[in-house]
Amino acid sequence: MIATIVSPRLMRIGGGSTAQIAEVLGLFGLSRPLLVTDPWMVSSGTVNRVLEPLAKAGITPTVFSDTVPDPTDTVIEAGVAAFRAGDYDCLIGFGGGSPMDTAKAMAILAAAEPGAKMRAFKVPASADKAAVPVICIPTTAGTGSEATRFTVITDTETDEKMLIAGLGALPLAAIVDYELTYSVPARTTADTGIDSLTHALEAFVSKRANPHADSLALSAMRLIGRHLRIAYRQPHNAAAREAMMLGAMQAGLAFSNSSVALVHGMSRPIGAHFHVPHGLSNAMLLPAVTEYGLNHALPRYAEAARAMGVATRDDADQVAGSKLLEELRELNQELGVPTPAQYGIGAAKWEGLLPLMAQQALASGSPANNPRVPEASEIIALYRRV
Ligand code: NAD
Repeated sequence: MIATIVSPRLMRIGGGSTAQIAEVLGLFGLSRPLLVTDPWMVSSGTVNRVLEPLAKAGITPTVFSDTVPDPTDTVIEAGVAAFRAGDYDCLIGFGGGSPMDTAKAMAILAAAEPGAKMRAFKVPASADKAAVPVICIPTTAGTGSEATRFTVITDTETDEKMLIAGLGALPLAAIVDYELTYSVPARTTADTGIDSLTHALEAFVSKRANPHADSLALSAMRLIGRHLRIAYRQPHNAAAREAMMLGAMQAGLAFSNSSVALVHGMSRPIGAHFHVPHGLSNAMLLPAVTEYGLNHALPRYAEAARAMGVATRDDADQVAGSKLLEELRELNQELGVPTPAQYGIGAAKWEGLLPLMAQQALASGSPANNPRVPEASEIIALYRRV
């Protein structure tokens, strides 16, 4: 098997590393950034964690803060207009997955002819060109977008959450500073934490798994399995926040070099049609989809259970696999993950959209990487089970 491995050229990791943003830009000769973030980062003053060290180095970036959760093609177009109106040599994506993905998508769209649409780049197309380099600074421990070759953008005409992949979406550099996550509310800590657990698990059981991605996925599962509950209950626990940030980044590197699979394929349509936060829709699906594939990659699922610390070396694979399912169900209960109905999604609308959602899930390509590859009818049945 031949595997292609990609990662940012530089990752600066550790508590307080955001203060070194100017130095990181300087390493690459960059000095004219457009900072892409979201409204909360500005209203809460969090954006100053980046602006102040830049100001000390004589850099005063323009701030584009119109990012929305589950970023849309129209926001990217507005961002590209802002980018073209100035003289920038890089983009800084600062925030959760939404601002980071916005910055990446802006770099891709800005490299295309004026008037180009984001949908031209969705999988199976490859988005390999970026107008300028992107530097990512995550503020949630979840998406791993700071280390991946993906950006996820919603097409506002079709309500499709499009997966866009290629070297154009790979950040040049990332600053990974867990101290930025102390302020993340418990709900978001849970959702983003399960997102990263899903990345690691799906990368590990994927048909595209490879030894490099495996090592990162196993390490991520060790960190997340032991620290997600603690970070959820004790937001200021430094060891837990640090472990979750590192685990999220490693999980990002793992799936970027392997793949995600059925959970993500089915999760994106839930996000697009019902605006459920990405990690939460993953969490809703994770136990049922894991059960569906379990016996098609049992040794891998069992190894994942051992890495997470919920099964031991002495447990046979079947026992470890059952323990994994039990753990995923318990985790959802402890982290207060609702069913779609409890989340407020009406049964009639849910049922009516299932054929389209199944079709959109399959079109993303992610289900084809699952250990058990479903037909559209099986995806519909799985949606009904959650
Ligand atoms: P998000 O970026 O939408 O942020 C969620 C909320 O948390 C926002 O209100 C934000 O302001 C707030 N927030 C962020 N950091 C905070 C902090 N430090 N303190 C307090 N509040 C904070 O959520 P997310 O889960 O990080 O990102 C989700 C997006 O990422 C989705 O669109 C998803 O599809 C995408 N995604 C991308 C990749 C990739 O590889 N590119 C991978 C997984 C998910």
